[in-house]
Amino acid sequence: MKNLKIVTFPDPSLRSNCSSLERVSKEDAELLEDMVYTMKNSGGIGLAGPQVGILKKMIVASDGKNRIIKLVNPQIIAQKGFTVMAEGCLSLPNEVVEVERFYKVIVKGINENNKLSKIKAKGLLARVLQHEIDHLSGKLIIDYRR
Ligand code: ZN
Repeated sequence: MKNLKIVTFPDPSLRSNCSSLERVSKEDAELLEDMVYTMKNSGGIGLAGPQVGILKKMIVASDGKNRIIKLVNPQIIAQKGFTVMAEGCLSLPNEVVEVERFYKVIVKGINENNKLSKIKAKGLLARVLQHEIDHLSGKLIIDYRR
């Protein structure tokens, strides 16, 4: 596993629309591993492809404890409730923004083994997943500033 370089705003990757993957290749699966490694190394709890200059719909997330999620083509298919919390981002190291998000979500995607994966999450993990999914269409926490 290797540590990837995290790009910071205003790198154009961060404002790009990412492509879906038809299938997860061995290289993509390795990239997901590297993303997890990089996320942990940077003290983060989530990381999206564009943050490491990869314009593919790939995210990794942690619940801040032991659960690690690697997901390709993630999509929110159900949501419930709202919650507001201050968020940071590894690509915007000096920003903290209060962001309203769904409290609970179900996110569908495929995992590193090309298997359909449905993640039920609430609270912090739900927030991280929504934050990372935003990255895949170039949306950043500063866009939530009121
Ligand atoms: Zn971020």
